[in-house]
Amino acid sequence: MKEIKKIALIAHDNKKAEMVAWSMKNRELLARYELCGTGTTAKLVAESTGLEVYRYLSGPLGGDQQIGAKIAEGQIDFVIFFWDPLSMQPHDPDVKALLRIAALYDVPIATNKATADFVMTSPHMQ
Ligand code: PGA
Repeated sequence: MKEIKKIALIAHDNKKAEMVAWSMKNRELLARYELCGTGTTAKLVAESTGLEVYRYLSGPLGGDQQIGAKIAEGQIDFVIFFWDPLSMQPHDPDVKALLRIAALYDVPIATNKATADFVMTSPHMQ
């Protein structure tokens, strides 16, 4: 992993409150990294934590694909992706593509709070 690690944040609509709460709880840890995210998630996390979060397009408008492209370019080190396992998403193919590209490039992708906590506190993050 690079010196200053870059974290991408994505949360589906039913998971946004969870993402905001998790980001606020982990604000001090997140402040050590460069943050980016899909449009609405990035905006909400920036507003609630006061941290700078680069905004890609909203997920359904191509934001997941933009983040996938950054993973392929080696510019994202960790993805926190709280996807909604109970609802259909209009951009389901993009969601699958993002999971695939993260697996392909061996980029950690936390799909729930427990995994996000494990990865954020991992010695590999240092
Ligand atoms: P959003 O996109 O942060 O712009 O809502 C997330 C998603 O639905 O993939």
